[in-house]
Amino acid sequence: MQRGRFISVEGIDGAGKSTHLAWLVDYMQRRQLQVRQSREPGGTPLGEKLRALLLNDEMHLETEALLMFAARNEHLQQVILPALTAGEWVLCDRFSDATYAYQCGGRGLSIERFMQLEQWVQGRDGGATALIEPDLTLIFDVPLDVSQARMANSRVLDRFEREQADFHAKVRAAYLQRAAEHPQRIRVINANRSIEAIQTELAQLMDGFLA
Ligand code: ADP
Repeated sequence: MQRGRFISVEGIDGAGKSTHLAWLVDYMQRRQLQVRQSREPGGTPLGEKLRALLLNDEMHLETEALLMFAARNEHLQQVILPALTAGEWVLCDRFSDATYAYQCGGRGLSIERFMQLEQWVQGRDGGATALIEPDLTLIFDVPLDVSQARMANSRVLDRFEREQADFHAKVRAAYLQRAAEHPQRIRVINANRSIEAIQTELAQLMDGFLA
């Protein structure tokens, strides 16, 4: 059985992740791939309870990071790794790059703390530096005014989405920095275009990834 592949989608709130994730699932299914769609924080019954706490309750910055990685551990062990082993493709709305962007970039968690937790939860046996990571990460990037206008029209805002503009500016900058540090894995998609134009680029990108 060939191992499945792991794709994560990222971006500031209102960038269009959910819109494009649904398109990606459809794209995969049309190619007869078995797809598991999931999200973080969440993705398991316990993870969804932690998500509700994370999105609604005030807490210390490091508690927030610990709970994010606790939910991620459960998600990896219960869902992501078994699905990949069974040959399924996993498409996940946010993964560790979001913790880097929101908790380190947005809130100021130290990179050392982030790396400790990343190593603990995503470390592979026998390799001190090798991490379990997505095979491909798509960061949907838009200017803040665009994302905020999109969110204003679309839904009730959670604890992160209600943050001030400078928080979202720091999150966006951290995402772009992360992309620059991981050019093999991360692709930045200009999401300040029509949905059709973005999906044309996604189709080309995915055709190349699947070839
Ligand atoms: P995210 O999941 O990144 O928070 P969504 O996919 O929920 O973002 O998109 C937020 C809102 O913006 C939705 O109403 C969606 O239809 C709209 N939207 C997403 N992408 C675009 C785009 N490229 N152009 C115009 N509107 C968009």
